Amino acid sequence: MVPTASSSTPPSQSSSVDSDSRTPAYLREADRYGAHNYKPLPVVLERGDGVWVWDVEGRRYLDMLAAYSALNQGHRHPAILKAAREQMERITLTSRAFHNDQMGPFLRELCQATGFEKALPMNTGAEAVETAIKMVRKWGYERRGIPRDEAEIIVCRGNFSGRTTTIISFSSEEQYKEGFGPFTPGFREVPYGDVDAFQAAVTDRTVGFLVEPIQGEGGVVVPPDGYLRETRRICSERGVAFMADEIQTGLGRTGRLFCCDWEDVRPDVLIVGKALGGGVYPVSAAIADGEFMDVFRPGDHGSTFGGNPLGAAVGRASLRVVIDEELPRRSDELGAWFMEELRGVGSPHVDHVRGRGLMIGVVIKASSGPARPFCEALMERGILAKETHHQVIRFAPPLTIDRETLAAALDDIGPVLKGEGVRL
Ligand SMILES: *Cc1c(COP(=O)(O)O)cnc(C)c1O
Repeated sequence: MVPTASSSTPPSQSSSVDSDSRTPAYLREADRYGAHNYKPLPVVLERGDGVWVWDVEGRRYLDMLAAYSALNQGHRHPAILKAAREQMERITLTSRAFHNDQMGPFLRELCQATGFEKALPMNTGAEAVETAIKMVRKWGYERRGIPRDEAEIIVCRGNFSGRTTTIISFSSEEQYKEGFGPFTPGFREVPYGDVDAFQAAVTDRTVGFLVEPIQGEGGVVVPPDGYLRETRRICSERGVAFMADEIQTGLGRTGRLFCCDWEDVRPDVLIVGKALGGGVYPVSAAIADGEFMDVFRPGDHGSTFGGNPLGAAVGRASLRVVIDEELPRRSDELGAWFMEELRGVGSPHVDHVRGRGLMIGVVIKASSGPARPFCEALMERGILAKETHHQVIRFAPPLTIDRETLAAALDDIGPVLKGEGVRL
């Protein structure tokens, strides 16, 4: 596609684009015709393959964001594309008014991989979170006898579970809420990583505990060892549903199939999305045993595209790639090594490095300013990473990456972390 804006207009101020650059026209178009709800790095991508992406100038970049872990399998994984193409040749959408021949096998494979009895397919992560919220509320009313409309769900400070009006209602991020009220009641916030605070917050009305095993958008925040296990134990004692939002941490990202596996924790409701669609198509699910799932009866909940045959075929292939290519093990081994290498850089600007597997946050000292200029300097060297929570550079490449590529990236990351080319 040729941008409609004239190519003779002046280039942007970015040093990475020259006067023949096609980039500025695309930036202007997005700026002019799009809502300004994001602040992307000024790079316009037109092609992706594995861990690499190319911009409209023909420059190649290493993708170290992987679409917030929706691309664990890499860009355009051949097996996922093949499944999508073959399905597109047959049927793509039936709606849930009828059955299709992909959804049942998809849900069975998802249950077999996760060890649960049932799964409810949706599209985006936020929808799967909403599904989980509805599920445990109704479970609380029907199975625990909680008075109608009084169910409470405990959430953690710094949480991110999506952008719907209900989900932002329990966000602790002022900007996510500002101007969007009134908010959905029924949520109670506790500090993340604090078992005692959680225990103290549980009441007779508490139906669920919604937790990310590592907070992704919150800044790659890893809770203390034992946090998941202890909160799980309290949930079991008090009859509270433990709901793990593994939309970002799941499917191999942290070095296990699910991050809860690190503490041998089995949630009551497992929420997956992002990489379940292999970077090709939005696929998400809320997964649970019948005790929870069976509260849904015909007409209670739904989605026009949820469980559609194209999404189900893509979901099956995406899951198979994660398992067959042992992406959790790759993530574990490469992540542990890469994190040590990052720590070894020894930059005066870096406060500390944290994470698990290939979900890594490099925390920039407040005295060195925000993380954004570091990400811009990385971009100029051909590495795409994105700051999260102002001070954190997140490194989360596709899990298909190899050690040589990561080692080569370190040759660029090291100097940037030390401030080279960074407009501090
Ligand atoms: C991305 C994300 C979501 C929301 O997923 P969408 O597909 O953007 O709706 C929810 N929870 C976590 C932990 C996420 O990282």
